[in-house]
Amino acid sequence: MRVAIIAMTSGLERCPMNFYDVIVIGAGPAGATLGYELGCRGLTVLIIEKEKLPRYKPCAGGITRRAASLLNFNISSIIEGTAYGARITYQLSDECTKRQKEPLLYTVMRSKFDHFLVQKAQEAGAIVSDGVRANHIQITDSAVEVMTSVGPFTAKIVAGADGAKGMVAKNVGLTADVEYGLAIEQEVYVAANKLTDWDSLVWLDIGHIPGGYGWVFPKNDHLSVGVGGPIHYSKRLKPYLERLLHTLGDYQVASSTGHLMPVRKRGMAIQRGNALLLGDAAGLVHPLTGEGIYYAIRSAQLAAPVIASTLQNTTIDLRDYEQAVDAQLMPSIESGRVLSDLFTRSPRFYFNLMKGDDRIWSYACDALLGGGPIYA
Ligand SMILES: Cc1cc2nc3c(=O)[nH]c(=O)nc-3n(C[C@H](O)[C@H](O)[C@H](O)COP(=O)(O)OP(=O)(O)OC[C@H]3O[C@@H](n4cnc5c(N)ncnc54)[C@H](O)[C@@H]3O)c2cc1C
Repeated sequence: MRVAIIAMTSGLERCPMNFYDVIVIGAGPAGATLGYELGCRGLTVLIIEKEKLPRYKPCAGGITRRAASLLNFNISSIIEGTAYGARITYQLSDECTKRQKEPLLYTVMRSKFDHFLVQKAQEAGAIVSDGVRANHIQITDSAVEVMTSVGPFTAKIVAGADGAKGMVAKNVGLTADVEYGLAIEQEVYVAANKLTDWDSLVWLDIGHIPGGYGWVFPKNDHLSVGVGGPIHYSKRLKPYLERLLHTLGDYQVASSTGHLMPVRKRGMAIQRGNALLLGDAAGLVHPLTGEGIYYAIRSAQLAAPVIASTLQNTTIDLRDYEQAVDAQLMPSIESGRVLSDLFTRSPRFYFNLMKGDDRIWSYACDALLGGGPIYA
């Protein structure tokens, strides 16, 4: 095992070597966390990111308290807002508001949140090369060669943290046995007095698209407004988003984009030889809520000790990582699928249940979002 020479700034010209213990493709929450965890363990890590950092990422930016609780550093400096509850509507009309004493979730801009995690990885010793695209991967028994837009790099292990439909899975022969959801989102500016209307609430709208929902998550100076649902309803998403936006009155669109949300089926291989997949690349997204940041971070934390351990042996074996994901993350994804099916069949019934009984809402929040740190 080598001692990593810390490169605190991005750029390949600063890399001290071209052979690493691990090359991570993608600098989202999964890749950055893996870089951090492996750096802390003294491994040499190169994180390759195709975008220049910080990069925009379409996301409601909801960090549940269970996700925040995974990080062993404080993220309060990059929190945009704290939601203490939700305004819930059924088909944009019938509504109820649920509040609680403790935060429901924090909101962040992903550009800042992901960059913050990348900086933590750099501080731990990972080398980060942004603006560099991984194009192809060649695997042999003892090494992995990653061909990029600036030349080849070699490592003992490659980690695909390159999101939904990432290139690593395809290149190493891991077929994505996933169900896809699709979400589209716009960052919109509204008048200042409209921003304060939100009063520490997020807005969730249900019942419009089977198995989907719409949201408005307030940020510091604007709103993230989006809708998502199963991919076969993709044609209904745009008109639904327009209806949701219409309810906000005057607004100015800052950006508009969509992205796939993959959900793994048990049995889908997420490691093979000296390659493994994390986060969205492994299909680790909650089927009902669409939460993926928790799973991205946690999958990296499950992978790190397995990688550190197998690098001490002559043969690389990453099967323990897949088993850990199956044991620790799949139960909540699978129960999420059952809940999602129930909710898809009778959204009105579940809306009425929540509307009429605060305990149901509290129970759902505890079960789905979990406890975690409370930032002042
Ligand atoms: C509209 C929308 C709203 C969402 N809202 C929430 C939410 O509120 N809360 C929540 O928990 N989850 C949310 N999610 C899900 C969440 O965004 C993802 O689950 C999460 O980003 C997964 O993290 P990741 O690190 O696995 O992948 P990503 O964050 O997608 O990062 C992958 C990275 O890999 C890079 N990359 C890809 N290919 C290459 C290549 N060839 N070479 C180099 N780099 C490459 C990409 O540029 C990217 O930076 C939302 C998703 C969508 C689409």
